[in-house]
Amino acid sequence: MSKIYIDIAFPTAVRRLFTYHTKEKHIAPGMRVWVPLRKEFAIGMVVQVHQRKPEFETRPVERVLDESPIMDETMLKLTEWIHRFYYCSWGEAIQAALPVGLNFASEKRVRAKKGFIDKLTKLDEEILSEIRNHDYTLKEAQKRWRDGKEKAAIKRGIAAGWLQVWEEPRQKVDYKTVKHWQIKEDVDLKKLTGELDKRESINKWEEAFVELSALDLPVTHQSLLKMSDLYTPYTLKRIEEEGWIESVELPVKSDPDQSREFEPDKIKTLSETQEKVYREIREPLSKKQFASFLLYGVTGSGKTEVYIHALKYALEQGCGGLVLVPEIALTPQTVQRFYQIFGDQIAVLHSRMSERERFEAWQQLKSGDKKIAIGPRSAVFAPVQNPGLIVVDEEHDASYKQYDPSPRYHARDVAIMRAHMDNAVVILGSATPGMVSVKAVMEEKHTLLQLPDRPTGTMPSVEILSLKEYKGAMRGPLTVELFEEIEKALERKEQIILLYNRRGYASFLQCEDCGHVPQSPESSTSLTYHKKKNILLDHYSGYSRRADKRCELCGSENLSSKGSGTQQVEEEMAELFPDARLLRMDRDTTSGKFGHRKIYDQFLSGHADILIGTQLVAKGLDFPNVTVVGVINADTELAFPSFRAGERMFQLLSQVAGRAGRAEKPGVVYVQTWKPEHPAIKHARTHDFKAFARQELANREMLIFPPFSRMIVFHFKSPSWSKVQMVADRFCDGMRMVTGENVVMGPSPSVIEWMNGQYQWEANIKLKRSHNAFAVEKILDSIFEKYDSIKPKGASAVRINVDVDAIE
Ligand code: ADP
Ligand code: ZN
Repeated sequence: MSKIYIDIAFPTAVRRLFTYHTKEKHIAPGMRVWVPLRKEFAIGMVVQVHQRKPEFETRPVERVLDESPIMDETMLKLTEWIHRFYYCSWGEAIQAALPVGLNFASEKRVRAKKGFIDKLTKLDEEILSEIRNHDYTLKEAQKRWRDGKEKAAIKRGIAAGWLQVWEEPRQKVDYKTVKHWQIKEDVDLKKLTGELDKRESINKWEEAFVELSALDLPVTHQSLLKMSDLYTPYTLKRIEEEGWIESVELPVKSDPDQSREFEPDKIKTLSETQEKVYREIREPLSKKQFASFLLYGVTGSGKTEVYIHALKYALEQGCGGLVLVPEIALTPQTVQRFYQIFGDQIAVLHSRMSERERFEAWQQLKSGDKKIAIGPRSAVFAPVQNPGLIVVDEEHDASYKQYDPSPRYHARDVAIMRAHMDNAVVILGSATPGMVSVKAVMEEKHTLLQLPDRPTGTMPSVEILSLKEYKGAMRGPLTVELFEEIEKALERKEQIILLYNRRGYASFLQCEDCGHVPQSPESSTSLTYHKKKNILLDHYSGYSRRADKRCELCGSENLSSKGSGTQQVEEEMAELFPDARLLRMDRDTTSGKFGHRKIYDQFLSGHADILIGTQLVAKGLDFPNVTVVGVINADTELAFPSFRAGERMFQLLSQVAGRAGRAEKPGVVYVQTWKPEHPAIKHARTHDFKAFARQELANREMLIFPPFSRMIVFHFKSPSWSKVQMVADRFCDGMRMVTGENVVMGPSPSVIEWMNGQYQWEANIKLKRSHNAFAVEKILDSIFEKYDSIKPKGASAVRINVDVDAIE
C-alpha cells in the first residue's frame, strides 16, 4: 500500500509546514495529530493530505487525535490567508482560531440532549437522568453501564441522539474551585461593625474586616489581595482566628448574564429608512451571495435593529450568523437585545470565559446547537455553521486588531475575507467609520448604507470650551461653565459622565525643588502615582514600589502629587461636589470578571450621580438619565504620537456625544480643550463625519499614510541596546535594497523604548494598498531573505516582529 503523506502546521513561529506519513486512510485536513518533532512529540494540524513523496525521509504519525476534522475547509483557508497576509505561521493562525488552541489531547465525553424526548424505556430514563447529573467520559459511561441491556441502551441512546458524544480536551475539564471568604454565620455583623466604628483607633486587620463586610460576599482570596493593601494573607488569617470570617472552596463564579429575557415577539417594526437599508441587505442574503456593506449611522440611529432583522432573515434562510462587538463586557445591552429575539440560539463568547466555557460554546456552535455567535475579536473564528451574515459593529474600533501574540490580525478584515469564502454578507457598522472603510466605499468595494436620523431623541449638542479663554475661571480642572452645568444637573437629579482619557497617566509625583518626576526603571516612562495605595506604578511593565518620600535626585522631601488621572479627578470632584455620589470606571476599578458590569449596573440604577472614567465609559454604554457629559481634557488623545490621533479623537468625541441624551432628555457634551480649532474637535461639534473624513483623507493622501498605503511595522526587541539598534539599521538597509528608498521609514526607538527588560526599536514600510496576501508575503519573504544575507553578528539576540496593517 502506498504511503499517505500529510503536511502539518505547528503552532510555532516557523513559517513552514512539515511533512509526515501515515497509513490511516481516514486522515483528512483539519484533524489534529500527535507526531514526533525533533526529540519530542507535538500536536499539529493536518492541512494537506497528498501522495507526493518528499526527497527526505519522512517520519510516521504517532496518533491521529480526531475522528473527524475539527476545522472545516473554510477555516483552513481562512487561517492560511492570515498566515500569508499577517506573515505568521499557519499553525499560529490555527492556534488563534481554536478555542483553547491546539494543545490539548481530546477525550470523548457523553452528555444528555436537552429538552423533551419521547419513546424512552424506564432504563433509558434512568441512564439519561444519571448522565444529566454527572459528568461522564464515554469510557466511564461504558464502564458504568456495561451489562447486556444497559450496554444496548447506551448504544441506542447514541444512535438515537438523546445521548451525545463529543470530544473535549483532557486537561482542564474540572471546574476549578478557589478559596473564597465569607462572614461566619453566627457573627452579628451590625453589632460588631458598630462597635468597631465607635472605637478611637482600630487595628489594620479590624479595618480590613470592616471594609470586607461591606463587599458582595463570598469573595475570592486572590481578588481581595489585589483589591487593597488592607487585605493581606496575614490580616485575613487574623480575622479568621477571631472567628469572624471563614474560608470556603467555591467554583469560580459563572456568567451572571444567564438571566436574560427572551421575548422574540418584541422585535420592532423597522422605520422606513431602516426598512430600505434592510431590503438592500436582504437581497444578497436571499441568494447566499457575498456582499459587503458599510452601514453608516450615528449612535442611536437604529443600526442594531437592522442587524437583528437581517440576522433573523439569515436564520430563516437556514444560515447562521456572527456578530462582532468591540468588547462584550462593555456592551451588555447590545447582547441583551439580541438575546431577547434569538434566545438560546446565541452563544456569547468573551475573553473572560474560562477555557471550559469557551470550549463548550465552541462545541455548541460546531454541532449546530447554537446558530449565532456574539463576541469580540476572536469570535470571528467561531465555528458558526453555514454563516449567512457577519456583522462587525463599531467597525472602526481599535480592539479588533490583535497586537500580541502573533497572528496580528484585524478581525474586521478577517471577517470580510471569511464572508468571501463562505458566500456570506458582511455588514460593517459605525457612526464614525475608519478611514480604511470610507475609502473602500469610494472605491466601490463596499456598498454604503445610511441611517441619517435617530428614531428617538435628538443629537446632543456639543459645546467646545477653550481652556485658553477660561484661564482664571476654573474650578479645579473644570471651567466655570461646566462646573455650573454639573451643579444644575445634580439639582435636577440627573446624571453626569466625566471623561478623562488615560487612567492615572498624568498623576505623578513631582519634586517642588528640582522638578524631577520619578521614572520607571523598567520602561522609560514616568511612574504613575496611586494615592490610595501610596504606590508608584508603571502601567506598561507592571513595576511598582512604595511612593518615594524623598526626591531621587536632590533628596528634597518636598514632593507633591500632580496632574489629573481619573483618580485625582475623582478627588477633585469630591471636593467640588461634596454631596454628589461618585463612581469611577477605569482599568483599575474594572479588574475582575464582572468589574464593568458592576459599575455599569450601579450607575444605571442610580446609585451614583457622577461617573468618572477613561475612554471605557465612551464605549457602548447607554444611560437614559445622563444629561451632561464632560470631556475634561480632549488634548490627551491628540498628544498621542500616531497618524491616527485625529481619527481617534473624532471617534472618541462622537461616541461620548452619542452617550448623552439617548432617551427623551436632551443632553449636552462639554469638551474642554486647548485646541478648539483642531479638525477632529471642530467637526465633532457639528457631528459632521463627512467633513472630517474629507479633511482627514486629504491629509493622509498627502503623506501617503493608510488607507493610501499598506503600512507594515517591524518591531525590534532585545536586552542589548547596541544590538537592537544595529539590527534595526541593517534590516532597514536590506529593506531599502528590496523595496526602494522612499517607502521605508526608520528605524527609530519606539515610544516606549525600554520595557520588560527589552529595548524596542521600530521601522516601517508603506506598500501599495492593492497588495494582497500573496504579494505581501512575497515582499516580506524577499526582505527577510535579503536581511539574512547581510545580517550582523549576534543578530539572533534581537527579535523581529512583523505587524501588517499596524494601527497604533
Ligand atoms: P444604534 O445601533 O445605531 O446605536 P439602536 O438600534 O440601538 O441604534 O437604536 C437606538 C434606539 O432606538 C434603541 O433604543 C432602539 O430600541 C430604538 N429603535 C431603533 N429602531 C427602532 C424601531 N424601528 N422602532 C422603535 N424603536 C427603535
Ligand atoms: Zn528634587
